[in-house]
Amino acid sequence: MASADSPVEMRAMRAYSIAMANPSKRWPENTTGDFFVDRSCIDCDQCREIAPGTFDDCPGHARVQRQPDSAQLLSRALMALVTCPVGAIGTKAKHDLNTVVDNFPEQLDDNVFFCGFASKNSFGASSYLIVRPEGNVLMDSPRFAARLVRKIEQLGGVRWMFLSHVDDMADQTKFRRHFQCERIIHRDEVSSSIQDIEMQLAGTDPIRLASDLLAIPTVGHTLGHMVLHYKNRFLFTGDHLWWSPEKQTLRASSRYCWYSWKQQIESMERLLDYPFEWVLPGHGHRHHLSAKNMREHLAKCISWMRQTV
Ligand code: SF4
Repeated sequence: MASADSPVEMRAMRAYSIAMANPSKRWPENTTGDFFVDRSCIDCDQCREIAPGTFDDCPGHARVQRQPDSAQLLSRALMALVTCPVGAIGTKAKHDLNTVVDNFPEQLDDNVFFCGFASKNSFGASSYLIVRPEGNVLMDSPRFAARLVRKIEQLGGVRWMFLSHVDDMADQTKFRRHFQCERIIHRDEVSSSIQDIEMQLAGTDPIRLASDLLAIPTVGHTLGHMVLHYKNRFLFTGDHLWWSPEKQTLRASSRYCWYSWKQQIESMERLLDYPFEWVLPGHGHRHHLSAKNMREHLAKCISWMRQTV
């Protein structure tokens, strides 16, 4: 097990650990050695994206396909362990997690960061932080882990919390309370339990939040789903669109479309008007290409989606 011996380390562990993987419940498909995935895995895909050199896919769950054999691979595997929303990744040896915890939020490009620390309440969805002089934006909600919160404080806190849709809200109330940020969601996502959310957008037209930030309603996965377009370079897509490493192109899913696949296709077509280089989803992989290439993949995705109806 990754472990903490000193009181300081134990407090640090409590700050980001919600469960410990159980060696007696390790999947037999794991390769032998230090790291393993146990049967509590919910197949959220975080470990495969963060540490593809160590983790890969089995039907219905992740597994360790190769033990990390370099400092770089070990660091990535431990970052996956910290991010795992259900504590399904364990180790036989003791590792100091403090160094990898401080890798989050992880800078992706420019002033955009991946938060790590996925929450089981959003089924392990990814969340992101945009650091801006005019005020930072938290895109969907990570786990409210003390060490992550402290790092976000050091990066300037949170002014706005943009919620793509209700599935990926996780610890949004704790972030609201701590940072006094204004939360943004589409009105069509609001139920009685979240009717106090500060900014409730309406309609299907894009809404300019700031000169560099555009909220784009994308009906489909849910009625009030929205994506966030930033600096004409970054598209934070929630559960609307993602990169598929298997298909090597952009993809959406009719299987995981809870409202209207037909309207999701129409929403996707409208995104052709907005250039982006990065697709940054809640579920599925993030990816970076030139804006021209990304648009070609988006058109290809739309063409594929049309063939499915
Ligand atoms: S991060 Fe955890 S829950 Fe998600 S696929 Fe990996 S082991 Fe499973």
